[in-house]
Amino acid sequence: MTGGAGYVGSVCAARLVETGHDVVVVDDLSTGHEDAVPEGARFVRADIGEAAGDLLAEGYDGVLHFAAKSLVGESMVDPAKYWNGNVLTSLKLLAAMREHGTPRLVFSSTAATYGEPEQVPILETAPTRPTNTYGATKLAIDHAITSYAKAHGLAAVSLRYFNVAGAYGGFGERHTTETHLIPIVLQVAMGTRDKISIYGEDYPTADGTCVRDYIHVLDLAAAHLLALEHAVKGEHQVFNLGTGTGFSNRQVVQTCREVTGHPIPAEFAARRAGDPAVLVASADAAAEVLGWSPERADLTTIISDAWEFTRARG
Ligand code: UDP
Repeated sequence: MTGGAGYVGSVCAARLVETGHDVVVVDDLSTGHEDAVPEGARFVRADIGEAAGDLLAEGYDGVLHFAAKSLVGESMVDPAKYWNGNVLTSLKLLAAMREHGTPRLVFSSTAATYGEPEQVPILETAPTRPTNTYGATKLAIDHAITSYAKAHGLAAVSLRYFNVAGAYGGFGERHTTETHLIPIVLQVAMGTRDKISIYGEDYPTADGTCVRDYIHVLDLAAAHLLALEHAVKGEHQVFNLGTGTGFSNRQVVQTCREVTGHPIPAEFAARRAGDPAVLVASADAAAEVLGWSPERADLTTIISDAWEFTRARG
């Protein structure tokens, strides 16, 4: 597993260990944390592009590829970091998998591959027109995976995450540069921030604020385990992962108030560049093909788990 010291990777690593898999986490700790690697997983601190060949020579039945640069804003001002860090590294990983005959790949793709949607909920067949470099690099990797599956018989699944939140078993969101709504709002509740700025109040939505589809990180991890089981040789399957329900930024802030009991002062600020008004997944394909259904889809549950993690870390 690459990137297993990061947020989503650490929860997936924990679930894989708990379900009896032998897990090796490769992570350069550029954004991850060594103490987020769960007990029972072997940890290798290395650059994936450099280490993949030697590691895969040991013989593995699959790779889960989480490692990536994932800050949308940064991707626009430092594209090389994203084209090299995401695409080049993934191409090296694919080459090493081919060389050593590693049969299966589950890749962390993103809703950002779609860009501004023409229709919601978003189907996997929707046009892919990313509006930022981060999404473009993830889409480029998806294309490369499709080619490898066809040409070399790789069994591949890309999972397009919508808005991941929540925590599991002491593993949660710990980004040094935090840009995501829920962890920022919880920082206000913790007293480490004064207020939340809600970006935009004049979107064409019911309450004027953006709508997003929040998925619990534990449900996301469950989908990865199912994807490993359902990967088919020579095929590249793509699934959206969200709950199919949207919540507005106002609703998120209000639910955080209810969960934390903190007043959470909020102000409205200018729209953030590149933010689509509504991003909601159709999760039907994941349900039908993978047999996946989210069990912690309720926003209060998602936020409560994130809050418990945030408070425990102090
Ligand atoms: N957002 C906000 N204030 C913040 C951070 C985010 O209003 O301090 C909004 C953002 O504009 C978007 C929503 O919250 O409408 C979700 O943003 P996030 O960065 O969490 O995820 P994204 O949907 O961009 O992947």
